[in-house]
Amino acid sequence: MATLDGLPPLRDVIQRHGLDAKKALGQNFLLDLNLTQKIARSAGPLDDVTVIEVGPGPGGLTRAILSLGAKKLIAIERDARCLPALAEIGDHYAERLEVIEGDALKVEFAALATEGPVKIIANLPYNVGTQLLINWLLPVNWPPFWESLTLMFQKEVGQRIVATEDDDHYGRLGVIAGWRTEARMIFDVPPQAFTPPPKVTSTVVHLTPRDHPLPCDVAKLERVTQAAFGQRRKMLRQSLKPLGGEALLLKADIDPARRAETLSVEEFVRLANFL
Ligand code: SAM
Repeated sequence: MATLDGLPPLRDVIQRHGLDAKKALGQNFLLDLNLTQKIARSAGPLDDVTVIEVGPGPGGLTRAILSLGAKKLIAIERDARCLPALAEIGDHYAERLEVIEGDALKVEFAALATEGPVKIIANLPYNVGTQLLINWLLPVNWPPFWESLTLMFQKEVGQRIVATEDDDHYGRLGVIAGWRTEARMIFDVPPQAFTPPPKVTSTVVHLTPRDHPLPCDVAKLERVTQAAFGQRRKMLRQSLKPLGGEALLLKADIDPARRAETLSVEEFVRLANFL
């Protein structure tokens, strides 16, 4: 059967290369090239852009990104079994795909991209997705090397990323993402879209860096959010005791009887700046 890009259908690729999904690597593959194109299109125009993809697997999203015209795609994959399948895509899109075999958690991302604006697009492995996002959100220097992040997560993680105060999903991730980026959920993807299907719905999240996030020391903001949300049901005078408790809260003009989930990003930044 012909495909959009003239390469073999993904189901055949998976079969030919013996890529049965490994749970330990978070492997839930997307085989519908219309869907992978929809995800890649959410990142906006890709001409002249260097894209970094984490976990290309058999290459469904990889193919979409290349077919939409990315100037260069650097893909990092931990599972060596996928490399021959990715090499076939590389041959089809001469010179534009570079595959790095390795663990994305150990990659120095900022050093990878030397050309043009950088967008990160990925259907992330669920077991390392949140940590990767935090690494991309928390470099000391801002703005970061990337222009946007277009990432698939389990929906519950997506809800935590875009959450603001007074939302049940609001926590450390929402504060960090809200401080440094504008983040929104774009669309959900049901379990049946994946092979094998995961247990839960997934969602695509798009993040762009704020040009001027409120000035704040990253490490201090981390300390405050960790302490506050570590005991989210307690009043802040209690949960923030190790950091100065009531005195700190009064200095920042915040009622010590409030709870973590009621504080805006701006109020967390204020607390961090008084540490
Ligand atoms: N992009 C493909 C797709 O959309 O069909 C596969 C997505 S699958 C959810 C996650 C991919 O990440 C798998 O190919 C898996 O082998 C890879 N992976 C898992 N842990 C990784 C890590 N630490 N570094 C790089 N890749 C990893």
